[in-house]
Amino acid sequence: MGTGKVRIGLFVVAALVWVAGNARLPSQRPDLHWYKGNLHSHTINSDGDSSPDAVARWYKEQSYHFLALTDHNYFTDPQGLEAFLGAKDRFLLITGEEVTSHYGKAPVHVNAFRLQQTIEPFFGEGILSTLQGNVDSIRDAGAVPSLNHPQDGWAIDAATLTGVRELGLFEVYNAHPDTNNEWGLEEMWDSALSAGREIYGIAVDDAHEFKRFGPGRSNPGGGWVEVLASELSEAAILDAVGRGEFYASTGVKLEQLRRDREQLQIKVAQKSDRQYRTVFFGKGGRILARQTGVEAIYRIRPGDGYVRATITDSNGGKAWVQPVFPAKGP
Ligand SMILES: [Zn+2]
Ligand SMILES: [Zn+2]
Repeated sequence: MGTGKVRIGLFVVAALVWVAGNARLPSQRPDLHWYKGNLHSHTINSDGDSSPDAVARWYKEQSYHFLALTDHNYFTDPQGLEAFLGAKDRFLLITGEEVTSHYGKAPVHVNAFRLQQTIEPFFGEGILSTLQGNVDSIRDAGAVPSLNHPQDGWAIDAATLTGVRELGLFEVYNAHPDTNNEWGLEEMWDSALSAGREIYGIAVDDAHEFKRFGPGRSNPGGGWVEVLASELSEAAILDAVGRGEFYASTGVKLEQLRRDREQLQIKVAQKSDRQYRTVFFGKGGRILARQTGVEAIYRIRPGDGYVRATITDSNGGKAWVQPVFPAKGP
């Protein structure tokens, strides 16, 4: 065999190894697909400026796959909209409400997903009991709770997030311009994770304004989730979100994501000439590794506790890959 044939042979072997190595990536399982969605938006049924129809159309026209209308203390039933805007594997309206409470001046807002009627807010004797009461009401209704904009009004701190039970989701990013989420939320997340809370971070719009766009406005398109699910249904999307099979984003798109007890493996979809940095975090918020480039991998070691990753691009876009918990695992 000549050198050329050896080279071709090696190339074929390398290609086969690459294909075999990647065959287990969840993104390449033919039964799973990425679905983009926003889980926090407002309409004229609370303090939004547009009808449920106009809001849903904005997201559908921007190629989102799903949307939750989450009006304050009001269940905007999307059934009618779903009948003419919903389309199999193209667009889905997830049922939602922003259960809106407060303790003193501190807002305690918890989104509820997968509900059938309005869930009334709970008012407690302190910040933690108020939060816990609302989480419990949402659970009692058979719905999924998600804590909104923790630092709006500096309402929720790390101790409160760590203290609350039965909460599996919180907003690590909220695109509303007044929610104080440019720093502190990842540290809060690490505190809760380090204390053994299994909580995932979503990015949302919390959009109110669909008529006028500009800096300082509560416009759509700032934060979203990309969910790896078997189909575009409320059950499949919320189940996948509940297992952490998604990433939150403000601009970074992933091409591949492998997330299991052994490793986190990430491949970013390259956009123009942007450069990418990935930081892997473990117990105590410890930085386990920093990597540059479109591909990043971290092999989980005993003692890491949990492992999660944040990717930042050179124009400020971010993605948050959800933690894995080696002891129990996804
Ligand atoms: Zn709110
Ligand atoms: Zn809101």
